[in-house]
Amino acid sequence: MIQEAQQRVEKSLKHPVFHTIRDICDEMNKPAFVIGGFVRDLYLNRPSKDIDVVVLGSGIELAEQVAKRLGGLRLNVFKNFGTAMLRYRDLEVEFVGARKESYQRNSRKPIVEDGTLEDDQNRRDFTINALALSLSKDNYGELVDPFNGMEDMEKGIIRTPLEPGITFSDDPLRMMRAIRFATQLNFRIEEKTFEGIKAQKDRIEIVSGERIADELNKIVMAERPSIGFKLLELTGLLQIIFPEFQAMKGVEKVDGRAHKDNFYHTLEVLDRIVPNTDNLWLRWSAILHDIAKPRTKRYDKKLGWTFHNHNFIGQKMIPKIFGRMKLPLNEKMKYVQKMVGLHMRPIVLSEDVVSDSAVRRLLFEAGDDIDDLMTLCEADITSKNEAKVKRYMRNFKVVRQKLKEIEEKDHIRNFQPPVTGEVIMKTFNLQPCKEIGDLKAIIKEAILEGEIGNNYDEAFELMLKKGEEMGLKRAK
Ligand code: ATP
Repeated sequence: MIQEAQQRVEKSLKHPVFHTIRDICDEMNKPAFVIGGFVRDLYLNRPSKDIDVVVLGSGIELAEQVAKRLGGLRLNVFKNFGTAMLRYRDLEVEFVGARKESYQRNSRKPIVEDGTLEDDQNRRDFTINALALSLSKDNYGELVDPFNGMEDMEKGIIRTPLEPGITFSDDPLRMMRAIRFATQLNFRIEEKTFEGIKAQKDRIEIVSGERIADELNKIVMAERPSIGFKLLELTGLLQIIFPEFQAMKGVEKVDGRAHKDNFYHTLEVLDRIVPNTDNLWLRWSAILHDIAKPRTKRYDKKLGWTFHNHNFIGQKMIPKIFGRMKLPLNEKMKYVQKMVGLHMRPIVLSEDVVSDSAVRRLLFEAGDDIDDLMTLCEADITSKNEAKVKRYMRNFKVVRQKLKEIEEKDHIRNFQPPVTGEVIMKTFNLQPCKEIGDLKAIIKEAILEGEIGNNYDEAFELMLKKGEEMGLKRAK
């Protein structure tokens, strides 16, 4: 692996951006390094377009020179942070002077001073994120790795460069980052680092909801998000940032009958849905589909464990959860609510004789999200009983087929009333009134029940008939 990685590094450092930096640093006599995530990802063969360059001098000055020499590129300068950023072809390069940071207890904002490369590496969160490659002429491409980050990378270990207690207390967001990297890279969090997170978990309170949500979303988008949620649970962070999810953990037994552990079930559903969708919100729907189970759990002597209405109550819990976690409160949340609210329907359908009208109703309620809903429901079948799983999957196939047939025939997915309120008003010479709504509802019901087709003529005829029954007179 090392040899291949070395070749990748050499190839990558042939890029004109790096050569330009090398030449300018040589003229300015200020050593510079490419550092952090880009270097890590180069060794791990994860293509990355974000380059961080640290210079023993002014980052802005270096950036200005580089931008000029590359043909007068536009530069974004952030004076307050002493950083500057430019885009060159598909790369985004950020320049900063090497710095030393010291933290105060109640804030994530450090006091920053100029520093050496070593100072700069000390302030990094993990050994694998502290690797630097020299961009100086005399040792171009040489790796500077004071904390054995390469070894950790080979072993697949997340470890803080300094004492974990200090690293995490200084900036508690790093606890989320540790778990996020462990999830994305499928790395193990080294023991002391892990203990450090457990000890500092309460400090997560000083991190903004938005930053936590960013990290959570990265965990959700990883290949096996369950790794991250298990780590959040084991460290005690889950209870603080997402208590509703924590509440799903555990099994209760009455009369020798236990229900399944909904935390692990949910994680299984989440991992199962990953290969079938890269829609973040469908993945969140998987996380939240059973969120109301702890709240609706009852034991009934005859029925055993029940979770009546957990789909509807779950749907209602979502705005509060999204609000607190700083997830969007817009149509994305509504989509998640819809998925959670409807997630039992295809299963119920598949257990029964699949009637056309039940399929039409589901199509009507799910609309364009029907395929996503089916994807969620298929992921939800996590039974260990193979015969049962096979039966469900077979039934879902029938449901999918039926959905297709009915949609082709009746076009319910984006239902628009075939007879509008305008037409009703004109036909019966009405001002806006309750009867118009009643007639529209009757027509919609008749279409969903299959009594009439989803078309103007049949709907108009029904309107006339029902209107007359209601005592309405046709306009002359
Ligand atoms: P990704 O691009 O996947 O988010 P990354 O490591 O590149 O991963 P950035 O947030 O771009 O993440 O950070 C770049 C580098 O800056 C990191 O590799 C790390 O060295 C350093 N860094 C970022 N955030 C922190 C932090 N909270 N504490 C210490 N160092 C950090």
